[in-house]
Amino acid sequence: MAQPLLEVKNLKKYFKTKKGTLHAVDDVSFTVEQGKTLGVVGESGCGKSTTGRTILRLLEPTSGQVFFEGKDIFSLSPRQMRAMRKEMQIIFQDPYASLNPRKTVGEIIAMPLVLNKIITDPRKREERVLELMETVGLAERFINTYPHELDGGRRQRIGIARALAMEPKFIVCDEPVSALDVSIQAQILNLLTTLQKQFGLTYIFITHDLSVVHHFSDDIAVMYLGQLVEKAPTAELFEKPLHPYTQALLSAIPIPDIDHPQKRIILRGELASPINPKPGCRFAPRCNYASEKCMNKTPELREVSPGHFVACALAE
Ligand code: SF4
Repeated sequence: MAQPLLEVKNLKKYFKTKKGTLHAVDDVSFTVEQGKTLGVVGESGCGKSTTGRTILRLLEPTSGQVFFEGKDIFSLSPRQMRAMRKEMQIIFQDPYASLNPRKTVGEIIAMPLVLNKIITDPRKREERVLELMETVGLAERFINTYPHELDGGRRQRIGIARALAMEPKFIVCDEPVSALDVSIQAQILNLLTTLQKQFGLTYIFITHDLSVVHHFSDDIAVMYLGQLVEKAPTAELFEKPLHPYTQALLSAIPIPDIDHPQKRIILRGELASPINPKPGCRFAPRCNYASEKCMNKTPELREVSPGHFVACALAE
């Protein structure tokens, strides 16, 4: 089997708080093949964004390893990591907050080229900026415009153009359409799909909304309270979800079918705390199938059929 572009092994990211240690990402492992998209899904606070940022070393890990094209990126020096960042980029959820309001569209997109001294000639740099704007569907006339003068969709296109400036191989898309209207969401998803084909990009696509990644991801990883609870090819996850949490998430997606009305699984019980978590399954307080067995030992993520991983004591 070909080497995956990205391999995450036992990644942990903890934060010290006044109440104890917050286990934001707790022993997460997965791989992403070159040219594919892994959707990472879960409720707010499940650790999905922290996972994405720790992979890029925007946050330093507590422990674990991340291999990018076989290189252990946590062992790289700051200088080596700066070079590696050209290959690994991020698109943020709130394009407005991530764009400098005092810079024009052209200046924002040119910034990575300036900082990394990629194109030093201002005229050539402007040509490259215009090329990037065309690639993401931003009209040339916006080059001297400020972000606040544009709508959310166009602002997100600036963020995408900036991420593409360094010709990366891998992009973490951190809730890139969550702040946008549904019609604009579809345009941005289509653009990301086109760019993936055009440049052979590999994505991690982080979202709280499973329906967004249904047609966009090759595989889906479901996170709950800092842990990966299920990962499978997208079609299989939608047809045969095995973890009770994934089943509940899927039941919340409205499907218009009068003959087979959907039964929504309502999650009851308290969300366990990610601070100093107790042993046992973290989903147990909300799980309809929880038993004694689930309380003592944290279920391990195991492969129950080819490519389908689940962390539940009763998965079979
Ligand atoms: Fe539910 Fe037990 Fe499975 Fe956890 S391990 S999801 S509590 S059945």
